[in-house]
Amino acid sequence: MTMPGFRVIRPSSVDEAVRVLADNGPEAMVIAGGTDVVPNLQMRLFAPRVLVDIKGIGELRGITCNDRVGLRMGALTTLTEIAEWKFVERCFPVLGSAVRSVAGPLQRNMGTIGGNLCLETRCLWYNQSEFWRQSLGGCLKKQGDVCHVAPGGQRCWAVWSGDSAPALLTVEAELEIAGPGGRRRIPLAEFYRNDGMNRIALGRGELVVAVHVPVSSAFRRGVYRKLRVRDSIDYPLAGVAVAMKVDGQGICRAARVALAAVNPAPQLVHAAAERLEGKRYSAELVEEIAHEAIRTAKPLTTSASTPVYRRDMVRLFTRRALEELWQTRRGNGEKRAG
Ligand code: SF4
Repeated sequence: MTMPGFRVIRPSSVDEAVRVLADNGPEAMVIAGGTDVVPNLQMRLFAPRVLVDIKGIGELRGITCNDRVGLRMGALTTLTEIAEWKFVERCFPVLGSAVRSVAGPLQRNMGTIGGNLCLETRCLWYNQSEFWRQSLGGCLKKQGDVCHVAPGGQRCWAVWSGDSAPALLTVEAELEIAGPGGRRRIPLAEFYRNDGMNRIALGRGELVVAVHVPVSSAFRRGVYRKLRVRDSIDYPLAGVAVAMKVDGQGICRAARVALAAVNPAPQLVHAAAERLEGKRYSAELVEEIAHEAIRTAKPLTTSASTPVYRRDMVRLFTRRALEELWQTRRGNGEKRAG
């Protein structure tokens, strides 16, 4: 599989990158770590005329955290840098758990948090070589007019297959986006469109600059559970992130559950926040939330695993994560936060 021809532009500032992206529109594509973009170029899923290599933009690098503004991660922060950041386990354990599960060490060294939040959606019928896809006449997402997953419809069900997004949803992250009209911040939950073909809310010329997590979300207990074929490297077939705050009496004071790889977007299980807050642990309540998680999950045959099995695993992961987090003894971080 060979790359298509393209020109590479290396801007040295966010403003310059925005200008290049705005000037070239859909002909341009951003590249940072390249762990998703390069294989997709090799499979000819894209053929941009211009690749905008943003690795030289200093503003996009680094992690800062303080008790006034919370956590800020530049879009070029690598997944390894986040996994090895000394406060990740204490302050945002769900994020540490999720980024450690991304692919293998080589991909985590190269892959960036901005790139991981902007991954292409994935489908068994799409992430294939051009030769393989052409044997079927393509599909709605690329060079075809039918969806092989849901042949009667006009919608693409390719799934969101990133691990950091559900974790960041559970700590109410926001994205800082630069564009021709200036800077804006949006909740991460509003960034995803739940559409396999038109997956994220980035306009022409826009670029993700940083991820922000509020102080109020720090010190939540958290964990990410992931189903995949090979534990050492694969994308998720299903993922569940859970973050919760539990007080000294065992009462849940905040809780978020989010899913990956079972919808075209990472999804919060909205019922979890409403039904868990103010409650004590009970096996019935945990089972109820696990049931809500599988109502939120809508997997189809977009991967090698069956939808039934992936939904079963969503329920199991949700139940186990809630049990584990709720029944853990209170740690130092929660004492500080309280
Ligand atoms: Fe193509 Fe359908 Fe798969 Fe989307 S869900 S990538 S349209 S086969």
